[in-house]
Amino acid sequence: MHSVDATTEQMIRSVLAYAENRLRLDPVPLDKGSRDPAELDIALRGLLTDEPHDPDQVLGVYAAFLAPAVISADSPRFLGFIPAAPTKASLLFDMLISCASIQGISWLEAAGAIHAENQVLRAIADQAGLPAAAGGSFVSGGSAANLSALAVAREMAKRRVSAGTPGRLPQRWRALVGSDAHSSVHNTLRLLEMDALVVRTEDHRLTGRAARAAIEADGDPGSLALVVATSGTTNAGIIDDLAGLAEVARELGLWLHVDGAYGGAGLFAPSVRPAYAGIEHADSFVVDPHKWLFAPFDCAALIYRDPALARSVHRQDAGYLDVIHSQPGEWNPTDYAYHLTRRARGLPLWFSLCVYGIRAYGEAIETAIALARQAAEEIASRDYLELVREPGLSIVLFRRHGWGQEDYARWADRLLEDQVAFLPPTTWEGETVARFAFLHPQTSMDLVRQILDRMAP
Ligand SMILES: *Cc1c(COP(=O)(O)O)cnc(C)c1O
Repeated sequence: MHSVDATTEQMIRSVLAYAENRLRLDPVPLDKGSRDPAELDIALRGLLTDEPHDPDQVLGVYAAFLAPAVISADSPRFLGFIPAAPTKASLLFDMLISCASIQGISWLEAAGAIHAENQVLRAIADQAGLPAAAGGSFVSGGSAANLSALAVAREMAKRRVSAGTPGRLPQRWRALVGSDAHSSVHNTLRLLEMDALVVRTEDHRLTGRAARAAIEADGDPGSLALVVATSGTTNAGIIDDLAGLAEVARELGLWLHVDGAYGGAGLFAPSVRPAYAGIEHADSFVVDPHKWLFAPFDCAALIYRDPALARSVHRQDAGYLDVIHSQPGEWNPTDYAYHLTRRARGLPLWFSLCVYGIRAYGEAIETAIALARQAAEEIASRDYLELVREPGLSIVLFRRHGWGQEDYARWADRLLEDQVAFLPPTTWEGETVARFAFLHPQTSMDLVRQILDRMAP
């Protein structure tokens, strides 16, 4: 057997040493570094050339200039957008998958990896109450999952019409969505040349009743292909009326897609599980483990009630691929989304779930929900602050009396500058407001109080 060359030996030592140190940071620093492209240019000058460079020199530049210029999404002080908090087990296993180039394209090539990934999809499907036949694939994110699922939904609507069910083929298919559906849903609709029938509700929660009223007022149910429900809006953590929407979808023969990219993880938390009633009727369901299931980027679970339908839309055929479709007991993840080559990105979650147990996940999710409730109480107790609404899941929206957009921006900039926290403001009904997105189990009430203190008059 050959041994690796000296440069490889050097890299194994120094890159692994760097990785080890990063893994031992607990908590990790928030970081900010330079965002000035000119400064970054200077830092990288002379490295990407025809000539080789010493790996330690390149790693040194990464460590000194690039890594600190990335805000750590996995810091307990990262409270903006949707944070990340990958478990150490999942991070370590992610490295292993990279080192071994583990892919998860077809059963022929990667049965072992795919079998374990499918166990995780099964565990998620079980929490949702989806039938034994449900299945799908891990894809890169909620956006990729929404696009893949909506493509299937549109195709099924087309087939329904051409199979002779009453209805004509509409010029453009439409999806019924709530006003707070994720931006990626609207992107998807545009890419698929579909339109949205947007249902506005006073409290931002899409209900079966509101959907029914909107469909009646609209008068063109024949152009609807599906209903998109959100199980945890990204801006406010609101779970739509899944049971009511499932009923509407069933009455009209529409596909029901549930986007739980952020909030779907709440299925594992007993205190909020009842709010997901009806999710068992979903035709497709998405949850991002890289959000609230503590997996590394990038990882979204896409699950279909009837995977054969998805396969009929996404399966790629080519002479050289025929062989992957003729395996006994085959399960080809590539057949369930618009991808072919894929990393076995569900495996870090599999390893971590096995190591810590599913119960620990439910507990960690409950921790963030409890923190949101505590933070809401703290906000309500301070006279210069006001809750915009009771927190949904782990997101808290609140306002500072007398503040406008620039005050929030200055406050947020200072918090990052001082390495206290990262929480850019958001917009709610046209008003700039503050927003906590909790997720990291180590985010403390102490930190929350510090942040609120900095809003005091
Ligand atoms: C984050 C999010 C998405 C998009 O997921 P990505 O992984 O960022 O592509 C879609 N829907 C909802 C509700 C989300 O919170």
